[in-house]
Amino acid sequence: LTDKFNNVFRTLSGRGRISEENIREAMREVRTALLEADVSFKIVKDFTEAVVQKAIGREVIKLLRPGELMVQIVYEELVNLMGPVDTRIYYVQPPPTVIMMAGLQGAGKTTTCGKLAKYLVAKGHHPLLCAADLQRPAAVEQLRTLGAQLGIPVYTDDSKVAPHGEVAKGAAVSVCRAAIAQAKQTGRDVVILDTAGRLHIDDALMGELREVNTQLKPHQVFLVLDAMSGQDAVNSAKAFNEQLEVDGLILTKFDSDTRGGALLSAKMITGKPVKFIGTGEKLDALEEFRPEGMAQRILGMGDILQLVTEAQQKFSQEEAQKLQEKMEQGNFTLDDFMAQMGQVQKLGSMDRIMKMIPGMSQLTKQMNMGDGDVERQMGRMKAIYNSMNKRERKNPDLLDGTRRRRIARGAGVELNEVGQFMKQFEQTRDMMKAVGGMGMAGKMNLMKG
Ligand code: GDP
Ligand code: MG
Repeated sequence: LTDKFNNVFRTLSGRGRISEENIREAMREVRTALLEADVSFKIVKDFTEAVVQKAIGREVIKLLRPGELMVQIVYEELVNLMGPVDTRIYYVQPPPTVIMMAGLQGAGKTTTCGKLAKYLVAKGHHPLLCAADLQRPAAVEQLRTLGAQLGIPVYTDDSKVAPHGEVAKGAAVSVCRAAIAQAKQTGRDVVILDTAGRLHIDDALMGELREVNTQLKPHQVFLVLDAMSGQDAVNSAKAFNEQLEVDGLILTKFDSDTRGGALLSAKMITGKPVKFIGTGEKLDALEEFRPEGMAQRILGMGDILQLVTEAQQKFSQEEAQKLQEKMEQGNFTLDDFMAQMGQVQKLGSMDRIMKMIPGMSQLTKQMNMGDGDVERQMGRMKAIYNSMNKRERKNPDLLDGTRRRRIARGAGVELNEVGQFMKQFEQTRDMMKAVGGMGMAGKMNLMKG
């Protein structure tokens, strides 16, 4: 996906100004990329349209280097889609709060029960685990082992386990009911029900889960989905959500190289918040869900967001304000230009910045710029600037041929470098005029360009 975005970016930035048609064209690539990341078709379609509308709204087409802003918009839209964030667990009075886990076999229910129990203990709760997957003795044993590892009690009833996988009607309900009763007696304030799964959704499984759901009315039902299983996860999310009152999703196996498209699709199809993600087989590998990291993962944007965040932190509010005013008044001077360059430099080496921006590493390669070249370039720009007098810096239009020759001599550079410098300045000034009304993030994107 990273490659895809680099392509999109290259297409957009190579073109200078772009039109709505260009944006749509670029979004076609984004669409392919999202489909490859297991996001379902309808969602991708709606999503790309939303991005196009937003891009038109933000007047991306008026900018000279719109690619980065496009990436930003795509990212923001993904974060929106995956939100709103709600990782809270709602506790009831009087206790115990009953949490039911549901999902296909192998999705990670049992493991997640253990992880969640550990998470709750860390928050000061006293959970009780309940082995309600009665299909095989091994399933009960697995939960017992996890409980022992964590020092958390596990309610089990071996007499209810089906010898040949045929669970008796009402067996799961009676085990869960007994577990809830035990929690009350022993002062456990949360009961986590580890239910049965199947390889595929079938009536028997759904019947059993529905029975637990309607008879015991668990306070929260969490649907556990394997993020690696792509479209399967999406289909099962839909089916479970129709049969049970699902309150939240837990996506497992994010330690794999899965991109997370299944998460986005499952969230969209069920409309239920993602509560946690599982990031490993160990019991502490459970994280509260944050859409920012996930959007980044889906896009494969690497470090660009970190860069934007750093930039936003480092640009002081005051300087940003001053720049804003200048932009609005349209009197952007060489002093401002250099100050802005200095700001960008604060972020670290220019080489590093260039590498962080999707597409830029390719661009610098194409331009035959190696490590350090960007830095040297900055040094020469400074020398040119230093060779100007105050009046020239405030009013660059004064810089005729004679003055340019003098400056080149003073800076120890070729005359055409002074010309290039001025051209860069003028381009930036034009961009500044164009973005007078944009938000800070958009401006940042321009400054990097
Ligand atoms: P269940 O059938 O839904 O109860 O699934 P299990 O909890 O037994 O998990 C099935 C397999 O997935 C086990 O091997 C787990 O160790 C593994 N698993 C569960 N969650 C994760 C996770 O977040 N990351 C990884 N790598 N493996 C996981
Ligand atoms: Mg299990």
